[in-house]
Amino acid sequence: KKTSQLLRTDIRDLFKSGEILSEKHLEQFEARLIQTDMGVAATTRIVSDLRQEHLGRTMKVDELWATVRATVKSILKGTSTTTYDPEQPLSPLNFSESRPTVILVAGVNGTGKTTTIAKLARLLTSQGKTVLLAAGDTFRAAAVEQLTLWSQRLGCDIVTKPAGTDPAAVAFAGCEAAVKAGVDVLIIDTAGRLHNQQNLMQELEKIRRVIAKQIPDAPHESLLVIDATTGQNGLNQAQAFSKAVSTTGLILSKLDGTARGGVAVAIRQQMGIPVKYVGVGEAIDDLEVFDPDQFAEALFA
Ligand code: GDP
Repeated sequence: KKTSQLLRTDIRDLFKSGEILSEKHLEQFEARLIQTDMGVAATTRIVSDLRQEHLGRTMKVDELWATVRATVKSILKGTSTTTYDPEQPLSPLNFSESRPTVILVAGVNGTGKTTTIAKLARLLTSQGKTVLLAAGDTFRAAAVEQLTLWSQRLGCDIVTKPAGTDPAAVAFAGCEAAVKAGVDVLIIDTAGRLHNQQNLMQELEKIRRVIAKQIPDAPHESLLVIDATTGQNGLNQAQAFSKAVSTTGLILSKLDGTARGGVAVAIRQQMGIPVKYVGVGEAIDDLEVFDPDQFAEALFA
């Protein structure tokens, strides 16, 4: 809503009852798109579609918005292999045929990683799946405590180790416990300190190796949590992470608090990694499946 309001500023009033679309309008709109962190590439494509189809024509805002929505939808869908079956509840996750499905969650501290893991666990348990958490962010005692608290509230088990333990050891123990208990989904938290990026990436690589040794096709998902309020900065983080570990999807947290929601489009355009979920608040149920159509409709409502 916030992003959509920002995009509407000026344009909507100006084109309410029809106006000739000029280069000056396109420039103005371009600046707005950039302000929402839509990114240069996506912005350029949106504006050039508008120019090609409508420059010099008398337009009303609804027509203008229809063109923009179509472009944004096509960017967001990209080459995504995720199919949305209208008959099924939306679930963009790749579930393993044999138990457990292993989901590795990464993200820089403060992005909302711990909360997001709890929200994801909640979503899965509400679908009748059993979930085990592994508190792999052993670097931060508070993160382990926080996740333990969430697990108690959610009524799911958690594997923890003392602070400072090698996160790969937690992942190992998590896999072992998940196989033994026959749970549907294992969600593994990882450290998110950014000041030592090299070590962090090596650590993630090691975790992946340890997991794959026990469960050959795992992890089935490697999700990266990105804070939407950090806009373009979040995009840089996503690029750094995906260079080191193959990320299968993004979760864009804190989308409720920002007018920079355009970053979802920038990420799709520049990285080709699908946004799978969005965080829309601090409560446990505030996680939604990212639906490109719905998102484009909401941005240009
Ligand atoms: P971590 O350091 O990455 O594990 O981050 P936390 O899970 O501790 O979250 C950091 C802060 O962001 C907390 O105050 C959360 O309540 C808040 N937070 C997480 N996700 C969202 C979201 O989608 N919307 C809002 N508004 N706040 C969120």
